[in-house]
Amino acid sequence: MPFNREKANKFSHERIINNQVIKEKIDQYRIICDIDKDNNVRKEVQFRFQQNEMGNVRKVDFIFTIDSSFTELPLNDDIPSAKMGIVNFSSNIINLNKKSDIYDKSGFINPQKYNEIYNSNILTFVCPTFNLVPKEDDSLSVVDSIRKEIYDFYYNNSPFNSVKLIESLFNVIREANTSLKLKCRNQKCKSNDKTLNRKDIGILVDLDKVHIEPFKCEHCGNIMYLTDYLRLHEAIDEEFGHSTVLTRFAQVTEHLISINLIDTLIKHKSWNLLTNTAFIIDGPLAIYGEPAKIHRSLLRYLHYISEKLENPIIYFGIIKSGRLKDHFTLLEKKIELEQNSFMLVDDSYRFKYIQKAPENNQYFGQEVSFGQDFLFYSKGKKRFVVSMLYPMRNKDINFKENAFDYRNYNNLSTVLNLINEISIDLYEDAILPLALAHKYAAISLNPGTNILEKFIKSNL
Ligand SMILES: [Zn+2]
Repeated sequence: MPFNREKANKFSHERIINNQVIKEKIDQYRIICDIDKDNNVRKEVQFRFQQNEMGNVRKVDFIFTIDSSFTELPLNDDIPSAKMGIVNFSSNIINLNKKSDIYDKSGFINPQKYNEIYNSNILTFVCPTFNLVPKEDDSLSVVDSIRKEIYDFYYNNSPFNSVKLIESLFNVIREANTSLKLKCRNQKCKSNDKTLNRKDIGILVDLDKVHIEPFKCEHCGNIMYLTDYLRLHEAIDEEFGHSTVLTRFAQVTEHLISINLIDTLIKHKSWNLLTNTAFIIDGPLAIYGEPAKIHRSLLRYLHYISEKLENPIIYFGIIKSGRLKDHFTLLEKKIELEQNSFMLVDDSYRFKYIQKAPENNQYFGQEVSFGQDFLFYSKGKKRFVVSMLYPMRNKDINFKENAFDYRNYNNLSTVLNLINEISIDLYEDAILPLALAHKYAAISLNPGTNILEKFIKSNL
Protein backbone atom coordinates (compact mmCIF):
# COMPACT_ATOMS: atom_id res chain seq x y z
CA MET A 1 0.00 0.00 0.00
CA PRO A 2 1.36 3.40 -0.79
CA PHE A 3 1.69 5.85 2.04
CA ASN A 4 1.14 9.55 1.84
CA ARG A 5 4.34 11.04 3.04
CA GLU A 6 4.19 14.67 3.82
CA LYS A 7 7.25 16.60 2.93
CA ALA A 8 8.50 18.34 6.06
CA ASN A 9 8.88 22.03 5.66
CA LYS A 10 12.49 22.69 6.56
CA PHE A 11 11.98 26.22 7.81
CA SER A 12 9.04 25.59 10.08
CA HIS A 13 10.91 22.53 11.36
CA GLU A 14 13.85 24.67 12.42
CA ARG A 15 11.62 27.16 14.11
CA ILE A 16 10.03 24.44 16.19
CA ILE A 17 13.36 22.89 17.17
CA ASN A 18 14.60 26.26 18.41
CA ASN A 19 11.71 26.57 20.81
CA GLN A 20 13.22 26.12 24.31
CA VAL A 21 10.35 24.09 25.79
CA ILE A 22 10.52 21.65 22.91
CA LYS A 23 14.32 21.46 23.10
CA GLU A 24 14.21 20.45 26.75
CA LYS A 25 11.49 17.88 26.17
CA ILE A 26 13.34 16.29 23.26
CA ASP A 27 16.39 15.88 25.48
CA GLN A 28 14.35 13.80 27.89
CA TYR A 29 13.68 11.06 25.32
CA ARG A 30 15.65 8.53 23.37
CA ILE A 31 14.57 6.19 20.60
CA ILE A 32 13.31 2.82 21.88
CA CYS A 33 15.81 0.04 21.30
CA ASP A 34 18.30 2.05 19.27
CA ILE A 35 21.45 -0.01 18.70
CA ASP A 36 24.14 1.16 21.00
CA LYS A 37 27.81 0.58 20.29
CA ASP A 38 28.36 -1.08 23.66
CA ASN A 39 25.61 -3.64 23.67
CA ASN A 40 25.78 -7.19 22.53
CA VAL A 41 23.89 -6.82 19.31
CA ARG A 42 26.98 -7.60 17.22
CA LYS A 43 27.46 -10.97 18.90
CA GLU A 44 23.76 -11.74 18.72
CA VAL A 45 23.58 -10.90 15.06
CA GLN A 46 26.62 -12.96 14.15
CA PHE A 47 25.15 -15.86 16.03
CA ARG A 48 21.71 -15.53 14.46
CA PHE A 49 22.42 -14.81 10.79
CA GLN A 50 22.54 -17.98 8.71
CA GLN A 51 23.76 -18.61 5.21
CA ASN A 52 20.96 -19.24 2.73
CA GLU A 53 21.54 -22.83 1.55
CA MET A 54 20.74 -23.45 -2.08
CA GLY A 55 19.25 -26.94 -1.67
CA ASN A 56 15.58 -27.66 -2.20
CA VAL A 57 14.84 -24.63 -4.36
CA ARG A 58 11.79 -24.53 -6.59
CA LYS A 59 11.59 -22.73 -9.89
CA VAL A 60 9.12 -19.88 -9.93
CA ASP A 61 7.69 -18.80 -13.30
CA PHE A 62 5.24 -16.09 -12.30
CA ILE A 63 4.73 -13.48 -9.63
CA PHE A 64 1.30 -12.19 -8.75
CA THR A 65 1.18 -8.79 -7.09
CA ILE A 66 -1.68 -6.76 -5.77
CA ASP A 67 -1.72 -3.15 -4.72
CA SER A 68 -4.35 -0.71 -3.55
CA SER A 69 -4.68 3.02 -3.19
CA PHE A 70 -7.43 4.98 -1.54
CA THR A 71 -8.76 8.46 -1.34
CA GLU A 72 -11.74 10.39 0.01
CA LEU A 73 -13.59 12.83 -2.21
CA PRO A 74 -16.10 15.50 -1.19
CA LEU A 75 -19.35 15.07 -3.13
CA ASN A 76 -19.64 18.79 -3.86
CA ASP A 77 -17.72 21.94 -3.02
CA ASP A 78 -20.43 23.52 -0.87
CA ILE A 79 -20.53 20.72 1.67
CA PRO A 80 -16.95 19.46 1.80
CA SER A 81 -17.66 17.28 4.83
CA ALA A 82 -19.88 14.94 2.80
CA LYS A 83 -17.41 12.41 1.46
CA MET A 84 -17.15 9.35 -0.70
CA GLY A 85 -14.33 6.88 -0.15
CA ILE A 86 -12.68 5.25 -3.16
CA VAL A 87 -10.33 2.27 -3.11
CA ASN A 88 -8.62 1.09 -6.29
CA PHE A 89 -7.09 -2.35 -6.55
CA SER A 90 -4.54 -3.10 -9.21
CA SER A 91 -2.86 -6.38 -9.90
CA ASN A 92 -0.21 -7.63 -12.24
CA ILE A 93 1.30 -10.88 -13.31
CA ILE A 94 5.04 -10.85 -13.84
CA ASN A 95 6.48 -13.44 -16.20
CA LEU A 96 9.97 -14.27 -14.94
CA ASN A 97 10.85 -16.15 -18.12
CA LYS A 98 10.34 -13.13 -20.33
CA LYS A 99 12.25 -9.86 -20.54
CA SER A 100 10.65 -6.51 -19.84
CA ASP A 101 8.88 -4.91 -22.75
CA ILE A 102 8.46 -1.43 -21.29
CA TYR A 103 11.54 -0.13 -23.17
CA ASP A 104 11.38 0.80 -26.81
CA LYS A 105 14.13 0.05 -29.37
CA SER A 106 16.25 3.01 -28.37
CA GLY A 107 16.17 1.98 -24.73
CA PHE A 108 13.66 4.55 -23.51
CA ILE A 109 10.65 3.70 -21.44
CA ASN A 110 7.50 3.40 -23.48
CA PRO A 111 5.12 5.68 -21.55
CA GLN A 112 2.01 3.89 -22.74
CA LYS A 113 3.27 0.50 -21.54
CA TYR A 114 4.43 2.03 -18.27
CA ASN A 115 1.08 3.70 -17.65
CA GLU A 116 -0.72 0.50 -18.42
CA ILE A 117 1.06 -1.16 -15.52
CA TYR A 118 0.89 1.89 -13.30
CA ASN A 119 -2.83 2.44 -13.87
CA SER A 120 -3.90 -1.16 -14.06
CA ASN A 121 -7.14 -1.34 -12.19
CA ILE A 122 -8.86 -4.58 -11.51
CA LEU A 123 -11.55 -3.43 -9.06
CA THR A 124 -12.85 -0.18 -7.65
CA PHE A 125 -14.72 0.14 -4.38
CA VAL A 126 -16.77 3.27 -3.76
CA CYS A 127 -18.69 3.96 -0.58
CA PRO A 128 -19.93 6.87 1.53
CA THR A 129 -17.57 7.57 4.42
CA PHE A 130 -19.25 10.61 5.90
CA ASN A 131 -22.51 12.50 5.88
CA LEU A 132 -24.11 10.67 2.95
CA VAL A 133 -27.08 8.33 2.61
CA PRO A 134 -28.28 6.40 -0.44
CA LYS A 135 -31.03 8.18 -2.44
CA GLU A 136 -33.16 5.07 -2.70
CA ASP A 137 -33.28 4.48 1.07
CA ASP A 138 -32.39 7.51 3.15
CA SER A 139 -33.44 5.74 6.33
CA LEU A 140 -30.15 3.81 6.20
CA SER A 141 -27.47 5.05 8.57
CA VAL A 142 -23.95 5.74 7.30
CA VAL A 143 -22.80 2.54 9.00
CA ASP A 144 -25.52 0.46 7.38
CA SER A 145 -24.90 1.92 3.94
CA ILE A 146 -21.23 1.01 4.28
CA ARG A 147 -22.11 -2.50 5.42
CA LYS A 148 -24.27 -2.89 2.34
CA GLU A 149 -21.63 -1.44 0.01
CA ILE A 150 -19.00 -3.81 1.37
CA TYR A 151 -21.29 -6.80 0.96
CA ASP A 152 -22.36 -5.76 -2.56
CA PHE A 153 -18.72 -5.28 -3.56
CA TYR A 154 -17.82 -8.78 -2.41
CA TYR A 155 -20.98 -10.32 -3.85
CA ASN A 156 -20.96 -8.63 -7.26
CA ASN A 157 -17.28 -8.93 -8.13
CA SER A 158 -15.42 -11.88 -9.58
CA PRO A 159 -12.00 -10.31 -10.18
CA PHE A 160 -10.84 -13.10 -12.49
CA ASN A 161 -14.18 -13.77 -14.14
CA SER A 162 -14.84 -16.98 -12.36
CA VAL A 163 -15.19 -16.99 -8.57
CA LYS A 164 -17.06 -14.33 -6.61
CA LEU A 165 -15.02 -12.53 -3.96
CA ILE A 166 -17.67 -13.44 -1.40
CA GLU A 167 -17.12 -17.12 -2.22
CA SER A 168 -13.44 -16.72 -1.41
CA LEU A 169 -14.35 -15.00 1.84
CA PHE A 170 -16.70 -17.87 2.61
CA ASN A 171 -14.04 -20.48 1.80
CA VAL A 172 -11.54 -18.78 4.09
CA ILE A 173 -13.92 -18.35 7.03
CA ARG A 174 -15.41 -21.83 6.58
CA GLU A 175 -11.97 -23.45 6.76
CA ALA A 176 -11.73 -22.44 10.42
CA ASN A 177 -15.39 -22.21 11.51
CA THR A 178 -18.70 -24.02 11.05
CA SER A 179 -20.65 -21.24 12.74
CA LEU A 180 -20.07 -17.58 13.59
CA LYS A 181 -21.20 -15.27 16.34
CA LEU A 182 -22.31 -12.01 14.75
CA LYS A 183 -23.60 -8.89 16.42
CA CYS A 184 -27.00 -7.64 15.30
CA ARG A 185 -26.88 -3.98 14.29
CA ASN A 186 -30.29 -3.29 15.82
CA GLN A 187 -29.51 -1.95 19.30
CA LYS A 188 -33.01 -2.84 20.52
CA CYS A 189 -32.68 -6.47 19.37
CA LYS A 190 -33.05 -9.12 22.09
CA SER A 191 -29.59 -10.43 21.16
CA ASN A 192 -28.09 -7.11 22.30
CA ASP A 193 -29.85 -7.07 25.69
CA LYS A 194 -27.63 -5.24 28.16
CA THR A 195 -28.41 -7.74 30.93
CA LEU A 196 -26.87 -10.58 28.90
CA ASN A 197 -23.38 -11.85 29.62
CA ARG A 198 -20.87 -10.61 27.10
CA LYS A 199 -20.42 -14.03 25.59
CA ASP A 200 -24.17 -14.40 25.04
CA ILE A 201 -24.52 -11.19 23.05
CA GLY A 202 -25.02 -11.63 19.30
CA ILE A 203 -26.55 -14.38 17.21
CA LEU A 204 -25.09 -17.73 16.22
CA VAL A 205 -25.01 -18.20 12.46
CA ASP A 206 -24.71 -21.61 10.80
CA LEU A 207 -22.32 -20.94 7.92
CA ASP A 208 -23.50 -23.75 5.68
CA LYS A 209 -27.07 -22.56 6.06
CA VAL A 210 -26.51 -18.91 5.18
CA HIS A 211 -23.61 -19.49 2.76
CA ILE A 212 -23.00 -16.24 0.78
CA GLU A 213 -26.51 -14.77 0.73
CA PRO A 214 -27.82 -12.02 3.04
CA PHE A 215 -29.83 -13.36 5.98
CA LYS A 216 -32.07 -12.10 8.75
CA CYS A 217 -31.47 -11.85 12.46
CA GLU A 218 -33.52 -14.63 14.04
CA HIS A 219 -34.78 -12.25 16.74
CA CYS A 220 -35.61 -8.98 15.01
CA GLY A 221 -35.36 -9.70 11.30
CA ASN A 222 -32.61 -7.13 10.75
CA ILE A 223 -30.63 -7.82 7.56
CA MET A 224 -27.16 -9.31 8.04
CA TYR A 225 -24.25 -10.21 5.78
CA LEU A 226 -21.33 -12.63 5.83
CA THR A 227 -19.08 -9.58 5.39
CA ASP A 228 -20.26 -8.33 8.83
CA TYR A 229 -17.76 -10.85 10.20
CA LEU A 230 -14.99 -8.47 9.08
CA ARG A 231 -16.43 -5.79 11.40
CA LEU A 232 -15.17 -3.10 9.02
CA HIS A 233 -18.25 -0.96 9.65
CA GLU A 234 -17.18 -0.70 13.31
CA ALA A 235 -14.29 1.49 12.17
CA ILE A 236 -16.83 4.15 11.22
CA ASP A 237 -17.81 6.89 13.60
CA GLU A 238 -21.28 8.27 12.74
CA GLU A 239 -20.33 11.66 14.16
CA PHE A 240 -16.89 12.09 12.69
CA GLY A 241 -16.75 9.69 9.76
CA HIS A 242 -13.56 7.73 9.37
CA SER A 243 -11.13 6.96 6.66
CA THR A 244 -9.71 4.09 8.76
CA VAL A 245 -12.41 1.88 7.30
CA LEU A 246 -10.83 2.28 3.85
CA THR A 247 -7.38 1.31 5.09
CA ARG A 248 -8.72 -1.77 6.86
CA PHE A 249 -10.91 -2.68 3.93
CA ALA A 250 -8.01 -2.37 1.47
CA GLN A 251 -5.73 -4.50 3.61
CA VAL A 252 -8.07 -7.45 4.04
CA THR A 253 -9.35 -7.25 0.46
CA GLU A 254 -5.81 -7.40 -0.99
CA HIS A 255 -5.44 -10.81 0.64
CA LEU A 256 -8.89 -11.93 -0.46
CA ILE A 257 -8.21 -10.98 -4.09
CA SER A 258 -5.01 -13.05 -3.95
CA ILE A 259 -6.99 -15.93 -2.43
CA ASN A 260 -9.58 -15.40 -5.16
CA LEU A 261 -6.93 -15.99 -7.82
CA ILE A 262 -5.91 -19.15 -5.97
CA ASP A 263 -9.56 -20.26 -5.88
CA THR A 264 -9.91 -19.47 -9.58
CA LEU A 265 -6.84 -21.55 -10.50
CA ILE A 266 -8.12 -24.40 -8.36
CA LYS A 267 -11.52 -24.24 -10.01
CA HIS A 268 -9.81 -24.61 -13.38
CA LYS A 269 -7.53 -27.34 -12.03
CA SER A 270 -4.47 -25.30 -12.99
CA TRP A 271 -2.28 -26.98 -10.41
CA ASN A 272 0.99 -26.32 -12.22
CA LEU A 273 0.33 -22.61 -12.52
CA LEU A 274 -0.63 -22.40 -8.89
CA THR A 275 2.50 -24.25 -7.83
CA ASN A 276 4.80 -22.12 -9.99
CA THR A 277 3.33 -18.75 -9.06
CA ALA A 278 4.59 -16.67 -6.15
CA PHE A 279 2.02 -14.45 -4.45
CA ILE A 280 3.75 -11.39 -3.07
CA ILE A 281 1.92 -9.18 -0.61
CA ASP A 282 2.99 -5.60 -0.10
CA GLY A 283 3.43 -5.59 3.67
CA PRO A 284 3.40 -8.18 6.43
CA LEU A 285 1.17 -11.25 6.52
CA ALA A 286 -1.09 -9.71 9.14
CA ILE A 287 -4.56 -8.24 9.47
CA TYR A 288 -4.88 -5.24 11.79
CA GLY A 289 -7.80 -3.57 13.49
CA GLU A 290 -11.43 -4.64 13.32
CA PRO A 291 -11.05 -7.55 10.84
CA ALA A 292 -7.95 -8.95 12.63
CA LYS A 293 -9.69 -12.16 13.62
CA ILE A 294 -9.71 -13.45 10.06
CA HIS A 295 -5.91 -13.81 10.10
CA ARG A 296 -6.31 -17.26 11.68
CA SER A 297 -8.66 -18.40 8.94
CA LEU A 298 -6.28 -17.09 6.26
CA LEU A 299 -3.46 -19.10 7.81
CA ARG A 300 -5.56 -22.26 7.88
CA TYR A 301 -6.85 -21.75 4.36
CA LEU A 302 -3.38 -21.28 2.87
CA HIS A 303 -2.26 -24.47 4.61
CA TYR A 304 -5.27 -26.26 3.23
CA ILE A 305 -4.25 -25.11 -0.27
CA SER A 306 -0.69 -26.27 0.32
CA GLU A 307 -1.96 -29.70 1.25
CA LYS A 308 -3.79 -29.89 -2.06
CA LEU A 309 -0.61 -29.03 -3.96
CA GLU A 310 2.48 -31.20 -4.10
CA ASN A 311 4.52 -28.27 -2.85
CA PRO A 312 3.49 -25.64 -0.35
CA ILE A 313 2.06 -22.46 -1.80
CA ILE A 314 4.50 -19.57 -2.20
CA TYR A 315 2.72 -16.71 -0.44
CA PHE A 316 4.79 -14.13 1.37
CA GLY A 317 4.99 -10.45 2.22
CA ILE A 318 7.71 -7.88 1.67
CA ILE A 319 7.83 -5.15 4.30
CA LYS A 320 9.21 -1.93 2.91
CA SER A 321 9.14 0.34 5.92
CA GLY A 322 8.73 0.35 9.68
CA ARG A 323 10.69 -0.67 12.76
CA LEU A 324 12.24 -3.82 11.37
CA LYS A 325 13.40 -2.07 8.23
CA ASP A 326 14.90 0.75 10.34
CA HIS A 327 16.64 -1.79 12.55
CA PHE A 328 18.04 -3.60 9.52
CA THR A 329 19.37 -0.28 8.17
CA LEU A 330 21.19 0.29 11.46
CA LEU A 331 22.60 -3.25 11.47
CA GLU A 332 23.98 -2.81 7.98
CA LYS A 333 25.71 0.39 9.03
CA LYS A 334 27.27 -0.98 12.19
CA ILE A 335 27.90 -4.65 11.52
CA GLU A 336 29.42 -6.47 8.61
CA LEU A 337 26.71 -8.71 7.24
CA GLU A 338 27.36 -11.74 5.06
CA GLN A 339 25.79 -11.71 1.62
CA ASN A 340 22.95 -14.16 1.01
CA SER A 341 22.27 -14.66 4.71
CA PHE A 342 19.10 -14.41 6.75
CA MET A 343 17.91 -14.10 10.31
CA LEU A 344 14.62 -15.17 11.81
CA VAL A 345 13.46 -12.37 14.10
CA ASP A 346 12.17 -14.25 17.13
CA ASP A 347 10.54 -12.54 20.08
CA SER A 348 13.56 -12.57 22.38
CA TYR A 349 15.57 -10.66 19.78
CA ARG A 350 12.68 -8.41 18.81
CA PHE A 351 11.86 -7.35 22.35
CA LYS A 352 15.51 -6.75 23.17
CA TYR A 353 16.56 -4.73 20.14
CA ILE A 354 13.54 -3.61 18.18
CA GLN A 355 10.51 -2.88 20.29
CA LYS A 356 9.04 -3.39 23.72
CA ALA A 357 7.10 -6.55 24.48
CA PRO A 358 3.30 -6.15 24.31
CA GLU A 359 1.60 -5.93 27.68
CA ASN A 360 -1.32 -8.25 27.07
CA ASN A 361 -0.05 -10.78 24.58
CA GLN A 362 2.22 -13.76 25.05
CA TYR A 363 3.96 -13.27 21.75
CA PHE A 364 4.37 -10.68 19.01
CA GLY A 365 1.53 -10.53 16.51
CA GLN A 366 -0.64 -12.89 18.54
CA GLU A 367 -3.89 -11.22 17.50
CA VAL A 368 -2.92 -10.18 13.97
CA SER A 369 -0.07 -12.11 12.30
CA PHE A 370 -0.06 -15.18 10.14
CA GLY A 371 3.53 -14.73 9.06
CA GLN A 372 6.97 -14.69 10.63
CA ASP A 373 9.44 -11.89 9.96
CA PHE A 374 12.86 -12.63 8.51
CA LEU A 375 15.69 -10.26 7.68
CA PHE A 376 17.41 -11.19 4.43
CA TYR A 377 20.67 -9.68 3.21
CA SER A 378 20.65 -10.62 -0.44
CA LYS A 379 23.43 -11.68 -2.78
CA GLY A 380 23.37 -8.16 -4.18
CA LYS A 381 23.75 -6.70 -0.65
CA LYS A 382 20.19 -5.44 -0.52
CA ARG A 383 18.09 -5.54 2.62
CA PHE A 384 14.72 -7.26 2.61
CA VAL A 385 12.28 -7.77 5.44
CA VAL A 386 10.25 -10.82 4.49
CA SER A 387 7.10 -12.11 6.11
CA MET A 388 6.90 -15.91 5.69
CA LEU A 389 3.67 -17.83 6.21
CA TYR A 390 3.76 -19.58 9.61
CA PRO A 391 4.63 -23.25 9.11
CA MET A 392 1.68 -24.51 11.17
CA ARG A 393 -2.00 -24.16 10.44
CA ASN A 394 -2.94 -23.49 14.05
CA LYS A 395 -1.04 -20.85 16.00
CA ASP A 396 -2.18 -22.05 19.40
CA ILE A 397 -0.12 -25.21 19.61
CA ASN A 398 3.59 -24.95 20.51
CA PHE A 399 3.83 -21.56 18.89
CA LYS A 400 7.43 -20.77 19.75
CA GLU A 401 8.82 -24.19 18.85
CA ASN A 402 7.05 -24.11 15.49
CA ALA A 403 7.32 -20.48 14.44
CA PHE A 404 10.82 -19.66 15.67
CA ASP A 405 12.70 -22.49 13.97
CA TYR A 406 13.69 -21.51 10.43
CA ARG A 407 14.00 -25.18 9.45
CA ASN A 408 10.22 -25.46 9.59
CA TYR A 409 9.83 -23.06 6.67
CA ASN A 410 9.93 -25.38 3.65
CA ASN A 411 9.70 -22.51 1.21
CA LEU A 412 12.40 -20.38 2.75
CA SER A 413 15.18 -21.10 0.23
CA THR A 414 12.76 -20.81 -2.67
CA VAL A 415 11.59 -17.39 -1.49
CA LEU A 416 15.08 -16.09 -0.70
CA ASN A 417 16.43 -17.31 -4.02
CA LEU A 418 13.52 -15.72 -5.81
CA ILE A 419 14.38 -12.43 -4.10
CA ASN A 420 18.03 -12.87 -5.12
CA GLU A 421 16.93 -13.53 -8.66
CA ILE A 422 14.56 -10.61 -9.05
CA SER A 423 16.96 -8.41 -7.08
CA ILE A 424 14.89 -5.28 -7.36
CA ASP A 425 15.50 -1.96 -5.69
CA LEU A 426 12.79 -1.50 -3.15
CA TYR A 427 13.27 1.92 -1.77
CA GLU A 428 10.54 2.92 0.65
CA ASP A 429 7.93 4.04 -1.82
CA ALA A 430 8.66 1.64 -4.65
CA ILE A 431 5.68 -0.08 -6.11
CA LEU A 432 6.53 -3.73 -6.52
CA PRO A 433 5.07 -4.42 -9.98
CA LEU A 434 6.66 -1.28 -11.39
CA ALA A 435 10.02 -2.20 -9.94
CA LEU A 436 9.67 -5.65 -11.46
CA ALA A 437 8.44 -4.34 -14.80
CA HIS A 438 11.86 -2.83 -15.47
CA LYS A 439 13.28 -6.32 -15.68
CA TYR A 440 10.50 -8.69 -16.61
CA ALA A 441 7.40 -8.74 -18.75
CA ALA A 442 4.40 -7.55 -16.75
CA ILE A 443 0.81 -8.13 -17.68
CA SER A 444 -1.68 -5.82 -16.07
CA LEU A 445 -5.00 -7.37 -15.25
CA ASN A 446 -8.21 -5.56 -15.99
CA PRO A 447 -11.82 -6.13 -14.99
CA GLY A 448 -13.24 -9.34 -16.35
CA THR A 449 -9.78 -10.71 -17.12
CA ASN A 450 -9.65 -14.25 -18.32
CA ILE A 451 -6.74 -15.09 -16.10
CA LEU A 452 -5.88 -18.44 -17.66
CA GLU A 453 -5.77 -16.94 -21.13
CA LYS A 454 -3.43 -14.21 -19.83
CA PHE A 455 -1.16 -16.78 -18.22
CA ILE A 456 -1.06 -18.89 -21.37
CA LYS A 457 -0.49 -15.91 -23.66
CA SER A 458 2.29 -14.64 -21.44
CA ASN A 459 4.08 -17.93 -21.92
CA LEU A 460 4.18 -17.62 -25.71
ZN1 LIG B 1 -31.51 -8.64 15.75
